[in-house]
Amino acid sequence: MAADHITQALWSATTTFKTYPQLSGDIEVDVAIVGAGITGLSTAYNLAKAGKRVAVLEALKVGSGTTGSSTGNLYAPIDERLHSIESKHNEEAMRTVANSRSAAIDFIEQRVQEFSIDCEFVRVPWYLFTTPETSSQNKQVEKELEAAKKAGLPATGEVPAGFPYQVEAMANIAHQAQFNPLKYVQGLAAAIESDTCRIYEGTKVMDVEDGEPCIVKTQQGTVTARQVVMATHSPKGIYMVHTEMEPHREYAMAVRLKGDPLAGGVYWHQMQSQQHSVRPYSNEQGNFLLVLGEPHKVGHKEHNEESFLKIEEYMTKHFDVDHIVYKWAAQNYKPDDNLPFIGTSPMQNNTYIATGFAADGLVWGAVSGMLISDLIAGRENKWAETYDPKRFTPVASAPKFIKENVHVATHLIKDYMFYGETDQLKDIKAGEGKTIEIDDEKLAAYRDDTGQLHVVSSICTHMGCVVHFNNAEKSWDCPCHGSRFSVEGEVLEGPAYHNLAKPNDIKKE
Ligand SMILES: Cc1cc2nc3c(=O)[nH]c(=O)nc-3n(C[C@H](O)[C@H](O)[C@H](O)COP(=O)(O)OP(=O)(O)OC[C@H]3O[C@@H](n4cnc5c(N)ncnc54)[C@H](O)[C@@H]3O)c2cc1C
Repeated sequence: MAADHITQALWSATTTFKTYPQLSGDIEVDVAIVGAGITGLSTAYNLAKAGKRVAVLEALKVGSGTTGSSTGNLYAPIDERLHSIESKHNEEAMRTVANSRSAAIDFIEQRVQEFSIDCEFVRVPWYLFTTPETSSQNKQVEKELEAAKKAGLPATGEVPAGFPYQVEAMANIAHQAQFNPLKYVQGLAAAIESDTCRIYEGTKVMDVEDGEPCIVKTQQGTVTARQVVMATHSPKGIYMVHTEMEPHREYAMAVRLKGDPLAGGVYWHQMQSQQHSVRPYSNEQGNFLLVLGEPHKVGHKEHNEESFLKIEEYMTKHFDVDHIVYKWAAQNYKPDDNLPFIGTSPMQNNTYIATGFAADGLVWGAVSGMLISDLIAGRENKWAETYDPKRFTPVASAPKFIKENVHVATHLIKDYMFYGETDQLKDIKAGEGKTIEIDDEKLAAYRDDTGQLHVVSSICTHMGCVVHFNNAEKSWDCPCHGSRFSVEGEVLEGPAYHNLAKPNDIKKE
């Protein structure tokens, strides 16, 4: 199989980005939304419609976060299974999940129609199934079929003619959907931008002070707002929900097949633990098959590259693959009780959060947009209680977290290059990253392919955990709450606001 590929999500490699200005100077609005993914933009649409003055502040580009790295499937069930909601909560909660997620898919379809967004939105079936080699999991599929029926979804056990796998057990839900997620959010942003709904790119929020009003600090100016919505996938800074969810990294690939394209559908192949999710997608470049799988806790896997190899193995086993075209990885935050956190957070009054989406967040993002805008506009929302982030009480150690964060933010390290390489640094080979301790300093050292060493502090600036090297993406990943940093220490994603400390000039003297 030809193996050359681009390490980038299919969508960002094939979508034209519209550009929005940076914030310049101080402004005042009703609501400041941090992050222009599907959550931020769905919320902005609803609030602007409710007559609010809105500013969306995006550090990078519209849709360039996890939304633009997703696989673009829209479905009412969830990654952790609907039946888990009934067992962990109750039948009512399971119905709320199915109803709110179905309403969110309708919301997306309505925006596609309202603004004629060219994002290849199409209604397709969703399938969860086992094959002979995974038949030990038949019960899981049968339970999910029953749960879906009970939750009122149009579910059957029917296997369609020409199905691309040999099926043992099947849950088939009609009228789900798929689209190009990046084209959708790009189209939505372009449609809602106005004098009262401003979108700023290249505008990184550095701090949010909750209050009356809230103060949002960026490098380009300060935004004063009555409410703030943290639509950053995982809220930036210290929030209790960080202790109630696990960050996971998941791997995706887009391949070209030798034969005909698969019929439209969301295909979830039930495995021993979770599934491989497969979907077809066609554009002017050809017919692709996208696959998603091999999740692991962030910073907990030694050889991340293995995950790509396993996906490749899966694809070649089940399909006639001609070529891997794109491969990429992205992050999920899995809530302990399998429900997302949408609403005001326990320690803030006017800051709203939307997180804990697992791998289902395109739909949760649209749910969040409806729910948060209702709360801010003072309207009743029947889903609010189920997803309320305050369903957990703050843990006693919260003040300690905050102290550690302040300490870590001011952490300084020596310039080890200035002193020459110690043996520990010399041992690091090209392409390798290691966390080491020298003179009581905890360091994260990476040697690039040209032999140059990059040394930063290994202490995560969020809550003080030690970062781990990710050899597939060449990044430093925090195993505690999922903050990720480049080898130069810059924040890539996750709850940390601040970069990893770098060698300090003063200490050279
Ligand atoms: C590989 C993969 C495939 C997936 N596939 C699917 C799927 O098929 N269907 C599905 O429903 N879900 C899927 N998901 C989950 C889904 O993609 C996410 O849950 C969803 O996109 C989250 O959207 P969001 O808007 O909340 O976050 P994001 O899209 O990550 O948006 C957050 C934005 O905040 C910005 N930001 C961060 N920090 C700051 C700051 N300090 N200042 C300003 N801006 C900031 C970021 O740049 C980013 O643009 C998948 C996830 C993964 C990992």
